[in-house]
Order: sequence, then C-alpha cells, then structure tokens
Amino acid sequence: MGPKRPPAAPLGAASPCGKVSMAQAIPITVAYGDGIGPEIMQATLDIIQAAGASISPQVIEIGEKVYTKGISAGIEPSSWDSLRSTKVFLKAPITTPQGGGFKSLNVTTRKVLGLYANVRPCVSYNPFIATKHPNMDVVIVRENEEDVYGGIEHRQTQQVTQCLKLISRPGTERIVRYAFEYAVRHNRKKVTCFTKDNIMKITDGLFHRVFEEIGEEYPEIQKEHWIVDIGAAKLADTPEVFDVIVLPNLYGDVLSDVAAQIAGSVGLAGSANIGDNFAMFEAIHGSAPRRAGQNLANPSGLLFGALLMLVHIGQPDIAQRVHNAWLKTIEDGIHTYDIYKDGVSKQKVGTKEFAKAVITRLGQAPQTLKPVTYNTERAQEARKPRAAKAPETKVTVGVDVFLDWTGTPGALGEKMKEIPGGELDLYMITNRGTKVWPGGFPDTFCSDHWTCRYLANGGAAGVDHRQIVDLLGRIAAAGLDFIKTENLCTFDGKNGFSAAQGE
Ligand code: NAD
Repeated sequence: MGPKRPPAAPLGAASPCGKVSMAQAIPITVAYGDGIGPEIMQATLDIIQAAGASISPQVIEIGEKVYTKGISAGIEPSSWDSLRSTKVFLKAPITTPQGGGFKSLNVTTRKVLGLYANVRPCVSYNPFIATKHPNMDVVIVRENEEDVYGGIEHRQTQQVTQCLKLISRPGTERIVRYAFEYAVRHNRKKVTCFTKDNIMKITDGLFHRVFEEIGEEYPEIQKEHWIVDIGAAKLADTPEVFDVIVLPNLYGDVLSDVAAQIAGSVGLAGSANIGDNFAMFEAIHGSAPRRAGQNLANPSGLLFGALLMLVHIGQPDIAQRVHNAWLKTIEDGIHTYDIYKDGVSKQKVGTKEFAKAVITRLGQAPQTLKPVTYNTERAQEARKPRAAKAPETKVTVGVDVFLDWTGTPGALGEKMKEIPGGELDLYMITNRGTKVWPGGFPDTFCSDHWTCRYLANGGAAGVDHRQIVDLLGRIAAAGLDFIKTENLCTFDGKNGFSAAQGE
C-alpha cells in the first residue's frame, strides 16, 4: 500500500468521489441569473438530469432583481441559508447594474465562502471550432484569495503608491495540493507552476518551494516550474505542452483569460471556485443581455461548470457521460449561432435544440474528437500527511524605516548619520529598492520615497521593539516624515528580507 495522502478537502468536501446511487440526491443551490442565464441554466439542468445526475436543486434569486430591491450585495440574506446547507452553488451569469454602490456578487461569494481555488479547463475542439491551437487541453488552477488581491494599498508620498503582495504558506499549500489532487482525479500527467521567483525570491519563492515540497507526494505526476514571463509566452504559443498549471492569483487572473481566449472557445469554458467547505460552479461568460429570451445562447459554458460540479459531488461517471455526448454533438456539427461556421457546421440550433441534441447522444462517444475518461474510482489511498513544519526561530535584527523626503541621497545620508541609532546602525539607504547611499550612482532616479535600513551588529544581533520605537522617536524629533517601518527578521538564522539592487 502506498503512502497515505491527506484527505483532499476541496474535492471530497461535498461527498466522497465514486458512484452515487439515485437515492442519494445531493442538494445543490441553483441561481438562474439574468439575461441568457435562465435559458442556459434550464438547458444545463435538463442535460445533466437526463444523464442521471442525482441532484436536488434549491433555487435562489440573485442579480439584477435583487440589486434593484436595494440589496447592494446582489443576493438576499436568506439565500445564504441555502448555500450554507447545500455547500454547492451552480450559478448562471448575472447582469451587474451600471452605476456605483453595487458590490460584485462574485467577489462577495468568493470571500464569504472562502473559495480559494479557481479552476478553469481550456480546451480546443479542432476542427469543429476554429482555433490556432488544435491540441490545447490546459487546466488553469489559480489561487483566489491572496497575492495583491487583499487590495491593501496606500499612497505614501506625493509620488509613490504601494500594494501589498501577501503569499502565505498555508494558502499556498492548499492551492498546490488542490492542483495535484485535481491532476490525479482527472487522469492528468503533469502539473506546472508559474512564478517570478527570480525577482520576488521571498513571496514567489515560497510558492515555488511549496510546489516542490508537495509535488514530492505525487511521484506519478510530472512537475515543472517556469518563470511566469517565458511560461506565459510559451502558453500563448504552444499551449499543448502544458497540462495543469498552478499559479498565484494575479498571474492566474491574467493567464486564465489568455488560455480561454486562445483555445478559441471563451463562450464554452466553465469554471469552479472551490473552498474547504463550499464550491461554486459557473460559465466564464456574462449574461449577454442582448441575446436573452431568444433561444439563441450556447449553454455549453455553464454545462462545463456543471460537469466540474458533478465531479465535486462524487458523480464523475455522469460527468463523463454528458461530456462525451457533448463532444459528439459538436462533432456532428450541431452548433449554436456563436460557433456556427459554414462548411464546418451542419445545423444551426437554439439553446433548447442544442440541449436536446446532447441528450439524444447520451451514451455515445465522439469519433474524431478524443473521448474523455473521468477517474471514476474513489480517490486513491490517502497519503500520509506531511509532518507540520516546526516553527522557525524568529529574531528581529533590524528595521527598514521608510521616509517621505525630497533631496539627494548624499544629503539624506548626512542627515541620517547625525541621528543616533542606539544599538541600530544605519546600514544603507535605498530608493524604490535600489541602493543609493553610501556609494550609489549619480544616474539613479530618486523619488520622494526612501528606505533607511538599520541593522544591529550588521544583522547578527537581536533588537527589541523598544529600541525600534526609540529610534523612530529620534527620527521624528529630527523633523523627518517616516511613513512606515518593516521589521527585519531572521528565521532559523536565514534573512527574511530582500537585499537591495546594487547592494
Ligand atoms: P458577455 O460574456 O455577457 O458577452 C460577451 C459577448 O459574448 C456578447 O456578444 C454575447 O452575446 C456573447 N456571449 C456570451 N455568452 C454567450 C453564450 N452563452 N452564447 C452565445 N453568445 C454568448 O459579456 P458582457 O457583454 O461584457 O457582459 C454582460 C453582462 O454580464 C454585464 O452586466 C456583466 O457585468 C455581466 N457579467 C457577469 C459575469 C458573471 O456573472 N459571472 C461574468 C462576466 C460578465
């Protein structure tokens, strides 16, 4: 028996993977949304229920009607009760009203329900749907909560603004583990990690390191890491070399749209937002109000969201049945207006007729497109959880004092030297990360945002908060405008702070 894997909370949260008998209908919360939402939701539910999905939908109201009642979150407070009880949300797109004061329902849902993973399969269907990348089949797994999306921003000086990028070990561990579990569950062969850890050695460095650590628990899955810039270029040029890609929030936000677009099928992509206790499934497109009520819309994006849901609630066999019937429908040239192409398509159909065509093909497999096989086995033996890392010994060895100041590096150096540092010595001054004092180049552009780095005994001795507060008192007394400080710490003797450019 192999090593034990920790339970994959996100994938098994609602119920264990495996076949589910008809008696065990899984309650799900369903929102029909706005615009084309009601039509594509009906088509999606008709298809998956015809395929044998064992679900018990509870309908809630979200979107325009709720916003216009004056509920700025776009969801009735009572609807949270349904979500809290079912823990699974199949959501059609909504129309976000124009004008201020309305909160994005997606952001609210993601934050309130702790949906930390965004999963977006991006697949091309050559030759039936036009694409430059005929063999693309990539799944983007994007971290959904951390990075710069905390939205912690400050304007610190006349010239300079900042946004905090936060990457945590637990947050990274769960997204990386989710990506590997997804790979196992969906018979994927490789997981690729994108970061920019050649520059952000501490934040992206942590993401990369955790990827390597957790990857060791999945010897059957290939692993690779790309620097995000060249990785993104490769993804746009040769997406067929990638399989599952896991990445921090900002890169994931950008590249999941790139991936969906280059697959040639933005209107066909579904996505899942997964948390430890809740999950939300949807199409990636919007409510297309101009197409509403005309039986025109393509229900495929929401249907693909529903397939991710079926796997999540332990009905992968149903997902496989629907997916293959859908491939056969596309292959038979039965297309909605958005993908219809003379010479390739055979019949232009509406939403209802498309759904009927998929239902008619349940049990069939495509001939030209590759049939899909979902992993219908219960998750392999759980592997032994890695021992939790012992906390490292943290020692504060200095402080970066940030100043709003206008002048030259030499003048600031002279001014700072006059201020007694106590146990802390002025080690260097940087401007936007580049060392400008002592030494430095006269050509370096300096803004009004300066960092004075103080270290105790060159970073070899510890200091306490009192010593830092005393130093700040002396800096303030000298008439300098300090805008913030960052403590400089070591962890088991290793620096937990970056060096300056040119240091
Ligand atoms: P959209 O995705 O609704 O439409 C973009 C284009 O794609 C339109 O030409 C539309 O007709 C077409 N299209 C989209 N889905 C289609 C489908 N299933 N079948 C056929 N054609 C389809 O984007 P938009 O026009 O920018 O936004 C419309 C509304 O949707 C806005 O109020 C926006 O805020 C909202 N929106 C909601 C979500 C969501 O709920 N998750 C996501 C994006 C946009």
